[in-house]
Amino acid sequence: MAGEPQADCLFCKIVAKEIPAAIVRETETTLAFRDINPQAPTHVLVIPKSHFPDAASLAAGDPAAAADVLREAGEVAAQEGAVESGYRIVFNTGEGAGQTVFHAHAHVLAGRGLTWPPG
Ligand code: 5GP
Ligand code: ZN
Repeated sequence: MAGEPQADCLFCKIVAKEIPAAIVRETETTLAFRDINPQAPTHVLVIPKSHFPDAASLAAGDPAAAADVLREAGEVAAQEGAVESGYRIVFNTGEGAGQTVFHAHAHVLAGRGLTWPPG
């Protein structure tokens, strides 16, 4: 069923606390934790606890959870003191765009100059 945990999914395992992560925020529907390979001083991943392969599938299958992820991305930025300086929310979608984990996740990046357009 759409949204059900997948046995072979790394982020479902983090949601289930089977794999440890540096959690910075948790709600009933979302989890936010530090990226293991940070690309900026603040690099936090915000994920829905339900499993969808990418952001668009999440928005189509569980719009409320998609909204929760976006709201939490903003809360993470506030918690990290990044609102005034600015931050970036990124959803890599598809291998060609650099997606490596196929459980929807928002990257929240801040704490350094963020060039536009991204590479
Ligand atoms: P993507 O490349 O799919 O947009 O993002 C996946 C992100 O997950 C990468 O930035 C990668 O560093 C991060 N990541 C991969 N494995 C782990 C892990 O086991 N723990 C944490 N905290 N992050 C991970
Ligand atoms: Zn998953």
